[in-house]
Amino acid sequence: MSNRNNGSESASSVPAGNFSAWLHGTEASLRSGNGGADVPCGACRGCCRSSMFIYIKPEERQTIRRIPRALLFPAPGLPKGHVLMGYDDKGQCPMLIDNQCSIYEDRPQTCRDYDCRIFSATGISVDQQTQPEIAQRVQEWVFNFENEGSREDERVLKEATSFLEKNRELFPPGSVPNNPVQLAVLAIRIYRLFSGLTSQARQDASSLSDAAIADAILTALSEPG
Ligand code: SF4
Ligand code: SF4
Repeated sequence: MSNRNNGSESASSVPAGNFSAWLHGTEASLRSGNGGADVPCGACRGCCRSSMFIYIKPEERQTIRRIPRALLFPAPGLPKGHVLMGYDDKGQCPMLIDNQCSIYEDRPQTCRDYDCRIFSATGISVDQQTQPEIAQRVQEWVFNFENEGSREDERVLKEATSFLEKNRELFPPGSVPNNPVQLAVLAIRIYRLFSGLTSQARQDASSLSDAAIADAILTALSEPG
């Protein structure tokens, strides 16, 4: 999330950028682990008002310094120093003051990385009841498709997402996340491999079983880098 007003937007559609440029950039950012997303959020503050716990690493010292201690608590299951920031009784981040992030320059890396376009791109739905503002923005995003290749990128990404959702039982428990953000991230990580596997099978006029595709995905995910 950028949490800055970057310009005009209509009520029903918001330009999300070029699809393949976005996808390949997001993929590279996930691979490098550098994170950071330049989202054209405009006036939206959806993710600051969606009852989300914000994870903060111990290395984010300046961020931690800016947040009152009482708002932070240990992140369950993680070593000492990893913390979460909660939200108020309206589901709003306590650092959102007068509709602006009061620690924008020092906001957590989690906030810098959050990009709700992953839901539009993968076709994963956002819960309208619990996160209505994010759900609204996800419906509004409109990607530009640079060429036929970018339409194919979108088709494969959605197919890979759907494969993961439908074949959870072929993966060890927990390896296909229920959390929508983590599921979308996994789909982006594996869509190229998925594309290679399914197109090779098409070319050979062979049929690759779902179990074989799941095995290949698991093997690739277990390899370093
Ligand atoms: S919901 Fe999306 S558009 Fe809105 S602030 Fe968050 S990342 Fe930006
Ligand atoms: S820290 Fe700032 S950007 Fe992050 S959720 Fe809170 S208000 Fe939004």
